[in-house]
Amino acid sequence: MNKEYTVPTWEPGIKQLAPNIYAYIQAKATWYWSNAGFIVGNDYVVVVDSLATVGLTQRFKDEIRKITDKPIRYLINTHHHGDHTWGNHVFAGAIIISHNYCRHEAIETGIMDPGLLNTIFTEFDFRGIAVTPADITFDKQLTLHMDERKVRLLHFGTGHTAGDIIVHLPEEGVIFAGDFIFLYSTPLGMEGSFAGWLRNLDIMANLGARVYVPGHGPVCGVEGLNLCRDYLVFVQGEAKKRFDKGMTVDEAAKDIDLGQFKQWPNRERILANVERLWRESRGEDPTTSKLNVAEVFLRMDTMAKAGEL
Ligand SMILES: [Zn+2]
Repeated sequence: MNKEYTVPTWEPGIKQLAPNIYAYIQAKATWYWSNAGFIVGNDYVVVVDSLATVGLTQRFKDEIRKITDKPIRYLINTHHHGDHTWGNHVFAGAIIISHNYCRHEAIETGIMDPGLLNTIFTEFDFRGIAVTPADITFDKQLTLHMDERKVRLLHFGTGHTAGDIIVHLPEEGVIFAGDFIFLYSTPLGMEGSFAGWLRNLDIMANLGARVYVPGHGPVCGVEGLNLCRDYLVFVQGEAKKRFDKGMTVDEAAKDIDLGQFKQWPNRERILANVERLWRESRGEDPTTSKLNVAEVFLRMDTMAKAGEL
C-alpha cells in the first residue's frame, strides 16, 4: 500500500497563500464540502466560488469579513455544480463571472430535487439554495486587472465538466483549481471527459504554480494534482478493459478493485465515473450525452448502502 494515498487530516478555515490571497478550506473533502477563496485588492474583493448551502456560504462570508470590510465586487464560479454556486445569492450585489457553459448549465439543470438532496446528503440544510447565473461569461480566457495584480480566468476545454475554469495568479504562483483537483476524496467525472480532464491537468501543471487550491481537499502543491491524476488514469484503464469485455456499467463498477483509492471517501463515485467512461468509449459528446444526475445519485447511494461499491 502506497502511504501517500492515505487520508490525512488538515486544518480547515482561512489559509493565506500569498499577500491578500486566501483559500477557504473545509475540514472534509466529501460530498458538498467544497473549498472557495478570495483576493483582496485596494478597493474591492474578488471571491472564488460560493458553497453548497446558504449557511455554509454565510459562514464563508463572515470569515472574509474578519479579514476585510471592502466591498465584494466580483464572484467567480469555477463551474456550475451546486456546491460551488448554490450560495451565490449570499454575495448579492457582486458581479458573477463564469464560463459560458457554466451559466448555460446552471440554468438548464437548476436545483436538484430538494427532497432527494435532503434524503441522500442528510448533514446539510439545503433550504434557501438558488440558481444565480453569471452576469459576465467568456469562452477561453478573461483577465481581471486588480490594481497591479493579474487574475487570469482560463478554460482549457471539457474536463470535470464542459465549463470549468481555473483562477490563475501568475505572479504569486497560485491556482484556484476548482474541481480539476479532488484530493483525498474520489474525483467525480460524470459530466465531463476523462481524456479532457487529464489533458487539462497537464496544461495546468505546465503553468508552474507553487500552490493549488483543490475544489475538495487541502491546499497542495503539484503532488496533489498528481494524486488526482493517478485516480483518473487508473479508473480510465480499468474501465476500458471492462468496456472491451462487454460488461454493463453496474457490472464494471462493482468489479473494479480500487486498490489504494479505496481509502478515499465517496468511492461509490466509481459508478458515475464508469457511466461517463462508457459514453466516452462510444465517442459521445458530454454536452449532449448527459447523465440523469438525480438517477445516478440515487443509484450510487443505494448501491453504496448495500455494500456493492
Ligand atoms: Zn464539481
